[in-house]
Amino acid sequence: MSTVVSSITSNTPAVASEDAGFVFDNTYLRDLPGLYQKWPPAAAPHPQMVLLNEAVVQDLGLSLPVLRGAQGAALLSGDTVPAGAEPLAQAYAGHQFGGFSPRLGDGRAVLLGEMLDTQGRRRDIAFKGSGRTPFSRGGDGKAAVGPMLREYLISEAMHALGIPTTRALAVVATGESVLRDSGRLPGAVLTRVAASHLRVGTFQYAAAMDDRPTLQRLLNYSLRRHDPVLLDSANPALALLQAVAERQAALLAQWMGVGFIHGVMNTDNMTISGETIDYGPCAFMDHYDPAAVFSSIDYHGRYAYANQPPIARWNLARLAETLLPLLADEPQQAIDAATAVIDDFPVRYEHHWLQVMRSKLGLVATTAASDASDLALAQGLLAGMQGQGVDFTLLFRGLTRWLGAETAAAPQALDQRQALDSLQALYADAAPLQAWLPLWQARLRQQPLAVAEASERMQNSNPAFIPRNHRVQAALDSASDSSDLTAFNRLLAVLAKPFDEQPEAEDLALPVPPAQSAAFQTFCGT
Ligand code: AMP
Ligand code: MG
Repeated sequence: MSTVVSSITSNTPAVASEDAGFVFDNTYLRDLPGLYQKWPPAAAPHPQMVLLNEAVVQDLGLSLPVLRGAQGAALLSGDTVPAGAEPLAQAYAGHQFGGFSPRLGDGRAVLLGEMLDTQGRRRDIAFKGSGRTPFSRGGDGKAAVGPMLREYLISEAMHALGIPTTRALAVVATGESVLRDSGRLPGAVLTRVAASHLRVGTFQYAAAMDDRPTLQRLLNYSLRRHDPVLLDSANPALALLQAVAERQAALLAQWMGVGFIHGVMNTDNMTISGETIDYGPCAFMDHYDPAAVFSSIDYHGRYAYANQPPIARWNLARLAETLLPLLADEPQQAIDAATAVIDDFPVRYEHHWLQVMRSKLGLVATTAASDASDLALAQGLLAGMQGQGVDFTLLFRGLTRWLGAETAAAPQALDQRQALDSLQALYADAAPLQAWLPLWQARLRQQPLAVAEASERMQNSNPAFIPRNHRVQAALDSASDSSDLTAFNRLLAVLAKPFDEQPEAEDLALPVPPAQSAAFQTFCGT
């Protein structure tokens, strides 16, 4: 296999690294001794830019010409460490598939430092695949081009879907090969931009150290970074736990609304910021199936589609445990306070899920329709999809088109008939849909919202385009096998506007033929 070569070439002369516009201010390093080890990224023998995210370059106030130029690949592979960066490997613990590891940490990542973006938001700039660190255990600390392109593509798709996520700044091929089960693969470094890399596992690490001042510093740091208004709360530890529970409830509801399956919701992969992080074995569900799993190592379906909200709650309970010493002086009081937040998580989640589903169905809350009846309506639709092989994305897009046809000026009856036929064709047996549609129609008529507005709401909530597994795989295969980024770049561009009708890209909206679907699997730590 040949190395992916740059799609971005330039004759710009080398420029001093500070000209790239990095202005670092490294609070994690200053404020959290004991929770990292200073560690440089490995040098790359022959760095070449594969992809540079111009939108993120601009958000960060970095220089596009410099990063596009000869210096860019060196800077974004770790070959040249930019001035002001103080690279470190973060320490964290984590429950992996339920089993606790007290010392995971960045085994193939380093945090270069933090900078303020053009909106004044503090952002971590980190490398993934930049070599072994003191936390590496067995791995080589490296990453291959394919999986880093995959993270780039899917995190960008999530961002365009309006879902909180880390972003990808660049993928640089290192010129080195990495050994994986499938053979030698071209190596790469991904630059990841995040609101922070604080995780549930960071708190677990601090708690396992049994060092109260470190835990207290971590709590204060998290609040300063993500919830400064809560710093003066009567009970800051409780306030943080509630804030994280709220962000995760909102995030999980959004994942569920687009059929996203993270694949490895270990506590070290759950952020305090509420951003989606760590795109390893993740995948989007095609046909609706609560038990859908794509990860090759998730033998028992722990992280199956419908298990994600209860797993988020389980992870939050692990966070709550770490905070017990800070929640109250009296142990039982601390446990009661933590338990109340964890027990309340399903209610928080359901609240957000109802909001997501109302948007997807063009509904607004009204006094006439209770939350309970709207929940039942949404659940009724899903129950009728189960076991029917109904494509999740096409179903909601189909409902959107069906309602849209009612507002069209043209011969609407005909359009609506066609939309109904397409919807029914998604089902093995359309009887459950036929029973459900009148309930939805009746509910739509109850609300003080014009059909055109309901339709627009649906248009903006139900993507036509998601990163379909077979399309992602095909794009990555041609990028890795023949250094051809044409399919990848086309997919990336279409996924940047997931809610827009893009008739020229209709092929990317279609599900995989059933014969290929059964075989699809994703892999961890690749
Ligand atoms: P992940 O599955 O990416 O969340 O990683 C879980 C843990 O395994 C983290 O501590 C990673 O740093 C570590 N890890 C994953 N891949 C590698 C690798 N190739 N080399 C060293 N450590 C790794
Ligand atoms: Mg991870």
